[in-house]
Amino acid sequence: MINAERLLETAYDEAQRGLAEGGIPIGAALFDSAGKLLGRGHNRRVQDGDPSVHAETDAFRNAGRRRGYRDTIMVTTLSPCWYCSGLVRQFGIGTVIVGESRTFTGGHDWLAEHGVSVTVLDDQRCVEMMTRFIAERPELWYEDIGVD
Ligand SMILES: [Zn+2]
Repeated sequence: MINAERLLETAYDEAQRGLAEGGIPIGAALFDSAGKLLGRGHNRRVQDGDPSVHAETDAFRNAGRRRGYRDTIMVTTLSPCWYCSGLVRQFGIGTVIVGESRTFTGGHDWLAEHGVSVTVLDDQRCVEMMTRFIAERPELWYEDIGVD
């Protein structure tokens, strides 16, 4: 059985790397069904000047090519936005593990309605990381989620 909290550690570590780089602290990692790491990454909007590099897309791209994704697990520190929820649907990723959805709720309920196995851990460290970031860098946060 997969230990979701253990998988979240990799995504959390990525979020912390992003924060240390001056970026938005959202991390993600893609695993196979046995829990083997396929790719990991973090939001790089600030670092790369590229708003399309979200944690999930970075982890997904770093995993390289794969024939199918039904047996893969996308782990992310924060509820996936619509763009990243679309990625999960587009490639048929079977399982999504979410660190928290208190500070932002994206498309994880929509994913669950469409047959994706979704677990929201409500991880306190993830909540605190985003709460602190939003308080300290509101302009960057609202830029990232596209809210005026
Ligand atoms: Zn996203």
